Amino acid sequence: MIKTRFAPSPTGYLHIGGLRGALYPYLFAKQHKGKFVLRLEDTDQSRYVKGAVENIIQTLQKIGLEWDEGPYLDKTLNIKQKGRFGPYFQSQRLPIYQQYAQKLIDSGQAYYCFCSTDRLEKLRQLQQGQNQPSKYDGCCRRLTEKYKSAKFKIQNSKLLVNDRPAVIRLKIPQSGEVRFNDLIRGEVKIQMEDIDDQVLIKSDGFPTYHLAVVIDDHLMGITHVIRGEEWISSTPKHILLYQFLNWDLPKFAHLPLLLNKDRSKLSKRQGDVAAEDYLKKGYLPEALLNYVALLGWHPSDDRELFRLKELIKNFDLSRVQKAGAIFDSDKLNWFNCFYIKNKPDKELLRLAKKFLPDVPDKLLDKILKVEKSRLSYLAEICDRAGYFLNLADYEPEILIFKKSDGGTARLALEKVMDRLNGLKKWQPEKIKQALAAVVQENRLTNGDVFWPVRVALSGLKQSPPPEEIMAVLEKDESLTRIQSALDKLKK
Ligand code: GLU
Repeated sequence: MIKTRFAPSPTGYLHIGGLRGALYPYLFAKQHKGKFVLRLEDTDQSRYVKGAVENIIQTLQKIGLEWDEGPYLDKTLNIKQKGRFGPYFQSQRLPIYQQYAQKLIDSGQAYYCFCSTDRLEKLRQLQQGQNQPSKYDGCCRRLTEKYKSAKFKIQNSKLLVNDRPAVIRLKIPQSGEVRFNDLIRGEVKIQMEDIDDQVLIKSDGFPTYHLAVVIDDHLMGITHVIRGEEWISSTPKHILLYQFLNWDLPKFAHLPLLLNKDRSKLSKRQGDVAAEDYLKKGYLPEALLNYVALLGWHPSDDRELFRLKELIKNFDLSRVQKAGAIFDSDKLNWFNCFYIKNKPDKELLRLAKKFLPDVPDKLLDKILKVEKSRLSYLAEICDRAGYFLNLADYEPEILIFKKSDGGTARLALEKVMDRLNGLKKWQPEKIKQALAAVVQENRLTNGDVFWPVRVALSGLKQSPPPEEIMAVLEKDESLTRIQSALDKLKK
């Protein structure tokens, strides 16, 4: 059975890259009727961001990704865990990691390192000065024999070996290479000499990511490790750990980087990237999922619109590209606009109410019908609804169409007033016919008539067609606004 996982570190809120990091393994597991796990990799306590755990879980839940195992928030927003292989927070699994670290020490595949931070810093500076990559020089390797049967203990959050503070390092073989076949990138090869003797257990007894990820992926039965490209250079270390522990290797797939439009790495500095911010602004989960799914993958035809179920069916890991994928917020807006436009009226009203809680349902519903095809995200409704609720003052000059003049605008508005006054059925088609008749009968152009009417109704140069606005405003308010435009022109 296929089993995948999303294993974020709570070092920040869930961002767009994280969402894709969850979506791809989710899709892959679900299309193979497999299982999907959420695991929180919270062993780096110094980088822990308060609220990040809750944010990651809650955002994924709001977006509608479901996992079979891992932590989740219940209805009262308490964190619970489900699944047989827990706990799913690495910080709650320390004894497991320590036990395997001891095993690696016992088999001579890891060693204790007593080097002070001072020495390591000097080493780093020296290497930097010689333009060499920073790498542990193996100084404590020679102690392996001496400490081979020594057991470590954790006392007051300190790892001690014969009462000396230490860390545990992976003993990388001194020659040879590690090869693996990445499902996206093909064969990857790394020389042993380019791999650092990675710290596995830190001086405080916590594992590093590298040890914890391998142990958890193995114990949790993960068959496919699907994660960001930034981890590809760590994979050889992980493979060695699997080999040292006599475990079967999972398959690896490293997803392409996400880039800004200028091809720099997608970062917070260039606009929003937190998934929650998008939800708050009224981006629909289905639009986010659809757009994010296409950041690095596309089907063999030009189809672009996929709901989650269709993504499960159509996603193809072997078609994920190697090249970085560009995050384009205009494209995301296009998807969101599409899903907003196609949302059933009732649901859209419920969602939009969060942004305009004080507007009566009936009115908001009508406003939405006019505006929905133009919304990039729902929060825009606050501005867009403005003139329906309250007409702001505007300069009379904008009532005059650019190829027209004040006299024509006045004439048009007067004739429109007459016509509309007598109109019995206040419906968009009827209103439009009335305006068209004014154009015809007075030998005016569409711009001469529709433009000033639209401005009179909205106070804006850009707004939906006048008949649509009037249908929302209803007859009295529409005629009052047209009359006040006439008054402005007469002044
Ligand atoms: N914990 C890592 C992160 O936050 C994930 C690494 C992995 O998926 O193996 O990005």
